[in-house]
Amino acid sequence: MLKRAGYDEVTVFERGDRLGGVWHHNTYPGAACDIPSHLYEFSFAPNPRWSRRYAPQAEIQAYLEDVARSHDVLDRIRTGTDVTSARWDEERKRWTLETSAGVHEADVLVTACGQLSVPAVPPIPGLDSFAGPAFHTARWRHDVDITGKRVAVIGTGCSAIQVVPAIQPTVAQVDVYQRSPGWTLPKMDFPYSERSKRLFERFPVLQRLDRASVFAFQELAAAAMTRHRWLLRVFRAISRRRINAAITDPELRRKVTPTDEIGCKRIMLTDDWYPTLTKPNVELVSDRIAEVTPAGIRTQDGVERPADVLVLATGFATHGFVAPLEIAGAGARRLTDEWAEVPRAYLGLSVPGFPNMFLLYGPNTNGGSGSVVNTIEAGMGHVIAALEELERADARRIEVSRQVAEAFDRELRTALAGTVWHSGCTNWYVDENGHDPNQWPWLWTAYRRRTERIEPGAYALDR
Ligand code: NAP
Repeated sequence: MLKRAGYDEVTVFERGDRLGGVWHHNTYPGAACDIPSHLYEFSFAPNPRWSRRYAPQAEIQAYLEDVARSHDVLDRIRTGTDVTSARWDEERKRWTLETSAGVHEADVLVTACGQLSVPAVPPIPGLDSFAGPAFHTARWRHDVDITGKRVAVIGTGCSAIQVVPAIQPTVAQVDVYQRSPGWTLPKMDFPYSERSKRLFERFPVLQRLDRASVFAFQELAAAAMTRHRWLLRVFRAISRRRINAAITDPELRRKVTPTDEIGCKRIMLTDDWYPTLTKPNVELVSDRIAEVTPAGIRTQDGVERPADVLVLATGFATHGFVAPLEIAGAGARRLTDEWAEVPRAYLGLSVPGFPNMFLLYGPNTNGGSGSVVNTIEAGMGHVIAALEELERADARRIEVSRQVAEAFDRELRTALAGTVWHSGCTNWYVDENGHDPNQWPWLWTAYRRRTERIEPGAYALDR
């Protein structure tokens, strides 16, 4: 997007050995997107040739690399390079970055570190004592052959519900340790026929129509989780019916039926989770884990189940945003101090006291539904609008007004309080103190509208 807008001097630092972020790192069996592909792509790079309604990981990774290649930006990306700190130099109106490959200077800093990039390892006693291979879903060990093995999976979130059905046919036994169940809805995934792909190619309007219909559905879901919660009753009825249709054992039904509101945790899309749980080599364990032992996992009821391989499907550290990167803005103020109570940013993009800095997919830009690709694209549109303001004013420094940022934050917190995410469940949005630095509490159209231009008075421009 920067290149398309005429900004040529761009350097991208990527600590991984390839671009792709989560799609590069999450290679666990069954990894796929749960947003239909026609919405999970850049508006300026439509792909009529997705193999399925919900593309698998390798295909999304290939798409992202293809977009970078076809827009001729691969040579801007310095892979395998860690940025450890970024410091604003007020005199020179520049950012100085310390990287594993040396110092780099820039006029403008854009962070794009993701919200789901740092795997969370739970503080379960004895975890380090496990004798066999133990790894997180986002760091899948493909060198470990799980065929015929006893596998323990901890967690029943979006990653687990993809991994377990994918490995169940090949392993001897899979024990799934559930702390609290989540609601699910039918995924209704299907492959696109060669004919449909050709139609999408020949008539791009068809793909745009499909994209618009997916977007409309996601907006409906966003409305249900935020302002029109009565709509959730419909989703809940569908979800309950599916549990009853797939599972006859009353004990298993009870275990998988959540007691919290649908949408409080991210709703999971799946067609094979419940059928998999009924297989003879699968056990859903809902007793609390007491400890991991060298040979397996012991639950609080005293039962120890043996395991050869341990998989942590335990999610991510989602409240750091740019962590462990250390950022110091004007007056050497550290971003971690600015965010001591909770990470906050105007439109998720800019922080007072941190001039010429923008955060993509920053605080409060995640939706309970919707496509992160859309969010990033809207955010980047805002960054480009800000850069254009800088040029128009012949300025060298742009900083969001603290007053404007605080007013936005008050509006945001008020709206968040009424959402389903605060209705009492564990999810990766709300922390122990009730702060929610992740979610956008309005429709996605509102995010696009609010980010597409620079509001008069929102930013101060200086030479
Ligand atoms: P997650 O949704 O945060 O789930 C983590 C799971 O681990 C939960 O079941 C949690 O239980 C459990 N857990 C955490 N700590 C535990 C502990 N100490 N003891 C026992 N269980 C523990 O993580 P995720 O499944 O990796 O998904 C994270 C997000 O990534 C998703 O919400 C989604 O946005 C994204 N994702 C997307 C896709 C996709 O299809 N596009 C696929 C995977 C992930 P509780 O529920 O009780 O907290």
